[in-house]
Amino acid sequence: MPGAQEHLGRIPVAAHMRAGFLGLLIAAVWFPAASESAVLHVVATTTDLAALTAEIGRDLVVAESIVPSGVDPEAFEPRPRDVERLRNAAIVVRVGLGYDYWLDALLTRIGNRRTMRGGDAYVDASIGIPMLEVRGQSVVNEGGHAHGVANPHYWLDPDNAITITAGLVEALARVAPEHRDRFLANRDKFVAELGVRRQRWLDLLAPYAGTKLIAYHNSWPYFARRFRLDVVAYIEPRSGVAPSPAHLARLIYEAREAHVKAVLHEPYEPEDASRFVAQKLAIPVVHLALSVGGIAGTSDYLALFDYNVATLAKAFAGGKL
Ligand SMILES: [Zn+2]
Repeated sequence: MPGAQEHLGRIPVAAHMRAGFLGLLIAAVWFPAASESAVLHVVATTTDLAALTAEIGRDLVVAESIVPSGVDPEAFEPRPRDVERLRNAAIVVRVGLGYDYWLDALLTRIGNRRTMRGGDAYVDASIGIPMLEVRGQSVVNEGGHAHGVANPHYWLDPDNAITITAGLVEALARVAPEHRDRFLANRDKFVAELGVRRQRWLDLLAPYAGTKLIAYHNSWPYFARRFRLDVVAYIEPRSGVAPSPAHLARLIYEAREAHVKAVLHEPYEPEDASRFVAQKLAIPVVHLALSVGGIAGTSDYLALFDYNVATLAKAFAGGKL
């Protein structure tokens, strides 16, 4: 969806900050603090990491994402103003695993050692996360997918937010040690609420354990493992590659044999193939948000799961989508 990205790109940063409501409506890329004096300016590559940073920093942090919500993050190319945003960042947070590979060139160009790999204001949120689909010498099922060293969509397991936020507390406390206790308290509160919601999400999807699904893109291994769903095939033969008629024919045959119940689709992906497959199998296309702000009603990290879980449960129950 390059149109939306360009549109967003024309909004000056200061105006975007003032237009709090408008900002949320367009992309939810800003998580402004209540008072913006003496706050830490954190730049994350994605809205998910910006949203988690906002949970930990609360009124002590302004968190911003470089990749707007609602666009394909794996087709994203940075814009000149992103260099300036990073230059002014007190802390830089990234997904890693090749997902935001473009960040390294920008950070090198800026040359601030603190926000470069190994610096005290640099956070690779993938550190400490148990990875899925790790590439190695052993047999790897790539799932028709072109990711880096492992599948990078790890924020879609809510349990991984516990590890991610621990790393964020460390980084924030390194840069602003005087606020360490507040960062820790904010995280405790977030983790407690995450625990309550997590149980609700598990309960909602428990009746559908083992349900077989097709996804447009291989975004869901962490989510599917946590909620005991089974994504058996992908409409994309490889990341960013449109499916051929032969690929779709084979997919439909296999999905019919496997009794697949739904096609998972992210709104920015081309929808023709997903609709075609769903129609042939007489199953629904379920629109899920890959990231915070990707669909209306996903304005923070917990809301992202509230939305995706409720939408799936409704689809599985045969409700209207
Ligand atoms: Zn991907």
